[in-house]
Amino acid sequence: MRFHPVPDYHMHTPRCHHASGTVREFAEAALAAGMFEIGMSDHSPMPNGFMDDWRMNPAELHGYLTEVEQVRDALAGKLTVRVGLEADFRPGSEAGVARMIALYDWDYVIGSVHYIDDWDFDNPARLAHWDEVGIEEVYCAYFDLVAQSAATGMFDIIGHPDLIKKFGHRPPEGSARVLEAEEAMLQAVKQAGCALEISSAGLRKPVGEIYPHPRIVKRAADLGIPFAYGSDAHGPDAVAHGMDACLELLEASNVHEVCAFADRKRTMQPIRRV
Ligand code: ZN
Ligand code: FE
Ligand code: FE
Ligand code: ZN
Repeated sequence: MRFHPVPDYHMHTPRCHHASGTVREFAEAALAAGMFEIGMSDHSPMPNGFMDDWRMNPAELHGYLTEVEQVRDALAGKLTVRVGLEADFRPGSEAGVARMIALYDWDYVIGSVHYIDDWDFDNPARLAHWDEVGIEEVYCAYFDLVAQSAATGMFDIIGHPDLIKKFGHRPPEGSARVLEAEEAMLQAVKQAGCALEISSAGLRKPVGEIYPHPRIVKRAADLGIPFAYGSDAHGPDAVAHGMDACLELLEASNVHEVCAFADRKRTMQPIRRV
C-alpha cells in the first residue's frame, strides 16, 4: 500500500444472495490488510413488500445486526467495526425506508440508486434491457434519481455515484444533457450535505473504472463535497480492494481527507502516504 489505510464502509453479507463470507472473515481480511476500521453495509430490505433476489428480506435484518454487533464487540480495541446499511432510493419508498432507518442506531446509511423505474439496471440478469433504452436518457434519469436520493436527507453517503456506467454503456462524449444532469446531481449532494462514495467496485466490473469518474471527483472536490471510501466487497477477498487507486484519484483532485462515521456523525481523517 502506498497510503495508510482508511475506513472501508461498503461490504455485504450472504443475506443478499450474491456475497460470501462471514462478517468475522471480512474483519479478519481487514486486519490482515493492516486496516483499523471497516463498516458493513448489506443490501437493505425494502418497505411495502418490495423484494428482489439480491437483497435481504425484512426478517433477516435482526440477524444481520446481531452478527455485525458480535464481531464489533469481539474485535473491540483491534478493529473498529461500524454498523451500516446500503439502502435503495426508489421514488415512493421514502417513508418506508425512513421508518426502517429509524429502527436502529446506524453508524451510517449509504443511499444507492440501483433502479430506474422497475429496472435494476446494474443487475447482470437485466442486461438485455439496455438494448431497448436510449443511453443519454438513461444517464439523465439515473443522475436525476441520485439527486433526489440526496435531497431526501436520509443518507450519509451516496453510493457509487455513477454506477450507471457499470457495463460500459456510454453516452456520446460531452453530451450536454448528461453533463447538466451530473452537475445537478452534485449540487443536490452539496446542498444536502452528504458525502460521495469513491468506490473501487467499478474496477472489477466491465467498465474497469473507479466510481465516480475523475471529472465528477474533481467537480465534487471543487464544491467541497467530502468523500468516503468503499470497496463494495461481496467477499472478504475484496476488502480494501483498489484503495490506493481511489486515494490516488482523490489526491489528484486536491482532496486530502476522507470521511469516518460513528452514530451518523461525520469526522474527517487525513489521507496519508506511507
Ligand atoms: Zn450487491
Ligand atoms: Fe450498490
Ligand atoms: Fe453494495
Ligand atoms: Zn453496491
